[in-house]
Amino acid sequence: MSAESPRRGAPASPGIAIGPAFVLRRERMVITERRLDESEVEGEIERLRAAFGEARRRLQEIRAGMQATGLVGDIFDAQFLFLEDPTLIDHAVENIRGGLLNAEWALQRELRRLQREFDGIEDPYIRERASDAGFVVRRVQQVLMGREPEGLQNAPPGVIVVASELSTGDLAQVTRGQIAGFVTASGSRTSHVAIMARSLEIPAVVGAEHDLVDQVSDGLTLIVDGRTGRVLIDPDEAAVARYRSELERLAKLTQELLRYVDLPTESRDGVRIALLANIEQTDEIDDALRYGAEGIGLFRTEYLYMNRSDLPSEDEQVEAYRRVLAAAAPRSAVIRTLDLGGDKVPSGLGLQQELNPALGLRGVRMYQDRPEVFRAQLRALLRASPAGHLKILVPMVSAQSEFVFARESLQKVARELLDEGHEIDPEVALGVMIETPAAALTADQIAPLADFMSIGTNDLLQYTLAVDRTNERVAYLYEPLHPANLRMLQQCCQAARRAGIVLGMCGEMAGDPANCWILLALGIGELSMAPSSIPLLRKILRESTAAEARELLAEVLPLTSPREIRQRVEERMRRRFPAETEALPGE
Ligand code: PEP
Ligand code: MG
Repeated sequence: MSAESPRRGAPASPGIAIGPAFVLRRERMVITERRLDESEVEGEIERLRAAFGEARRRLQEIRAGMQATGLVGDIFDAQFLFLEDPTLIDHAVENIRGGLLNAEWALQRELRRLQREFDGIEDPYIRERASDAGFVVRRVQQVLMGREPEGLQNAPPGVIVVASELSTGDLAQVTRGQIAGFVTASGSRTSHVAIMARSLEIPAVVGAEHDLVDQVSDGLTLIVDGRTGRVLIDPDEAAVARYRSELERLAKLTQELLRYVDLPTESRDGVRIALLANIEQTDEIDDALRYGAEGIGLFRTEYLYMNRSDLPSEDEQVEAYRRVLAAAAPRSAVIRTLDLGGDKVPSGLGLQQELNPALGLRGVRMYQDRPEVFRAQLRALLRASPAGHLKILVPMVSAQSEFVFARESLQKVARELLDEGHEIDPEVALGVMIETPAAALTADQIAPLADFMSIGTNDLLQYTLAVDRTNERVAYLYEPLHPANLRMLQQCCQAARRAGIVLGMCGEMAGDPANCWILLALGIGELSMAPSSIPLLRKILRESTAAEARELLAEVLPLTSPREIRQRVEERMRRRFPAETEALPGE
């Protein structure tokens, strides 16, 4: 065992993982052409049919795993359709017989033909089916060539995944508890894969030094410290022992914090602040309640649309929303309408490639372009509304008129549903997400029309500071306590107060214990975060006073350097809460 110094990346999801490495290498598959001898033909056809069977079996296994964990289990349905479709296999067989081609190449030729056919079709949904065909053919070819499919579905239990980059789609393929942790070279704390890791409680480090991926080989022991961003490769026994005892200490601390689950969140001088949970998938709601969430502050609905090539039907959506609302009731659940783009790009919508998707047709902008998608989601939300206390949140608003569009669309859909005889909750609230500088600076114009506002700092910071939230190279500039952000938050608080509406925060800034005094002092009424962060935040806030928080805010507001503000705030929190803040990243 070596005792080399730890490597570093950005702490993306807290917790410690110790385990063998599983390196995800996405190689290009080279398909070679081989002419068959007549005598080989029947054997080759047999080999092809067996490979289809094996590919089907592997996909079924993944689907069963996903269903068992409550993840959307039918995302592979389109692929199954292709696997079952006799024409694909029949045409490949013809290529083997007629062209004397090996099975891999016979399939490749059929894929090209299909792609040409799809290319000529105007309907983008149908055109997108070409990617399903590609996925299926690739899987069969992998079986034929004796390759393991790339992706995490085959990761052995307990491994630490090491990859240049991971997507939320990759993570959606693992079953709960399957992987112990992950390290990626790309990404930053607010990339969606990091957010998802926190939700799934998978310790993770992102934006790690690039050569790390090359240095690690399968099976090598790794320690990943998701609180500090440290990664130890092939650690010596002393380091393993140290981290194991740290794991025990953390488990005890978590146990202790669970005592705070049922207590109200109120500062010692009587200021109430509600702590809510962000969830990505419907099955996370149980965890959220276990950690004492006072409601769901953000359910990102994008995951219903990911990893599939068709769109979720209205009925399927009704069921998912009902599940969330009923489980959260009598607490409220904020369900955000679709916000794709940036680092969440599904194929089902047939969206065009954009050079800069973060500034492209995202959120509310897309609804104007694809009204049928928005309408189906609003219909599903309203149909599900009697199951609980629904609050709908509209993302990526950058002008009052966009919120008006959303409000009018909701009213229209409500009338439509009532005419059809559906029951809907008349009290459904419609809120606006403040995640563009334009919305923050015009919050006074938007707030009077909204039932509530929620600040999405992940995007707000990316647009205000001109820092790509997924780019590890500029992650050092991504500072939530930047004076520009603090000023925007002040403006939002003032606008919400004047309009008499609740102001929440659902960006990652809300769940970092170092920031909580600043947010308390600013007067943000609701903080929504990864479920496991709730108990710690509750403990800190219950042991704080709003007066001391205001003092800290007054001290840092005149400062000009984001770095200095961060240092002052963390220093103060460390002094007051030494045990709870032990692993703040700046340490
Ligand atoms: C945000 O932008 O802060 C937010 C909560 O939304 P998302 O992270 O999904 O973009
Ligand atoms: Mg956002």
